[in-house]
Amino acid sequence: MKPVVIRAGNFWDGISRKPHGPREVLVLGETIAEIGTTVSEPTGAEVIDLPGHTVTPGFIDCHVHLTLRPELLGSFWSYSPSYKALLGAEALRTLLMNGFTTLRDCGDMDLHGFTVRDLKLACERGIIPGSRLVCSGHMISSRGGHMNAMLSLAPDNHPWENCLADGPDEIRKVVRNEIKHGAEWVKYAASGGFSTAGDDPLQVTYTQEEMNALVAAARDFNRPVAAHVFGDEATRRPVQAGVRSVEHGSMASTETLRLMEEKGVYIVPTQIMATRPARLAEDDAWKYRDSLLDGAKNIALSTVNIAFGTDLGIFSYGTNGACEFSEMVTNGITPGRALRAATSVAAELLQRDDIGVLAPGRNADIIAMPANPFNDITATERVDFVMKAGTVTRRTGGSALQHAV
Ligand SMILES: [Zn+2]
Repeated sequence: MKPVVIRAGNFWDGISRKPHGPREVLVLGETIAEIGTTVSEPTGAEVIDLPGHTVTPGFIDCHVHLTLRPELLGSFWSYSPSYKALLGAEALRTLLMNGFTTLRDCGDMDLHGFTVRDLKLACERGIIPGSRLVCSGHMISSRGGHMNAMLSLAPDNHPWENCLADGPDEIRKVVRNEIKHGAEWVKYAASGGFSTAGDDPLQVTYTQEEMNALVAAARDFNRPVAAHVFGDEATRRPVQAGVRSVEHGSMASTETLRLMEEKGVYIVPTQIMATRPARLAEDDAWKYRDSLLDGAKNIALSTVNIAFGTDLGIFSYGTNGACEFSEMVTNGITPGRALRAATSVAAELLQRDDIGVLAPGRNADIIAMPANPFNDITATERVDFVMKAGTVTRRTGGSALQHAV
């Protein structure tokens, strides 16, 4: 690989309170070698000029579903693993081109196999283009809970293959089965949801004892746990059980958020999915509207660690997930906190010290946008330069992407 020197009109490292102004970045191989007002320029280096652009670390989306699409909701168990793999490949390419160089898949919706793990392998081996991928296997759920109701499983489907588990013994077995098949995180549903017919977001679908058993089984294999939650009680129990991240957490009280601060638990608020519909709802009588809006206010006022996530897959991949940034800012989160949520804080959540920050020795996951996102957060939706591990995958002036689904 040729050495690359990036000349950034403006530069932000993923941590600092503000961008640093013009900087140069020297990339050798897959890694950042040097950052400064000027850097050494090895002979034969390719120089990439990005005047008028802000250069930042590649974004990290900590909550996507590569094998899900809105039009599959309610019937997706009837689609084959190979079809879902093709959908996943398309999503990976789209997300990378939009500036998301790392993703955590938060629930494989291929219930016949482990397609997200296979997508990760295919990316790592260069078979398909795409972002770095962290997989959490399938979303473990109680019978009658979020995944069960959503799927209306055919009776001949084996519950363990589909991640339905009740009681500590079954839960341990399912956790270990997911890990056996490549889950780097363990994801489970601690509450019902909005997008499912048979359950309610305020229901708590596991006892404290069951959640403790799940987290302990994952911990023995050094796997962190992410819990899908909406209501306050459903948020508090997983936090007490020792999960690393709470997904959505949209109706958490200030007391529960304080407990999360104490325990260092991260929240991935996915506000385009949870808060935006409440904010735009015309119907005052919508049962959850006020508690969703109050929840968003509580998160903005808290000091809890926020990591960026969209829940893409519930939406079409034609939606640029970067619109989550402006939703967060509209809900009172500062632009700097929103941007750190998708860079340095997301990397912390994923326990990765090689991504999320631009510094010598880190992976050269580098993107650029044609404005300063601290002044105009929507600039994040106009990323037009993407480098992943030292390889340029999108150049300024390149054509816009077409989205099939
Ligand atoms: Zn989700």
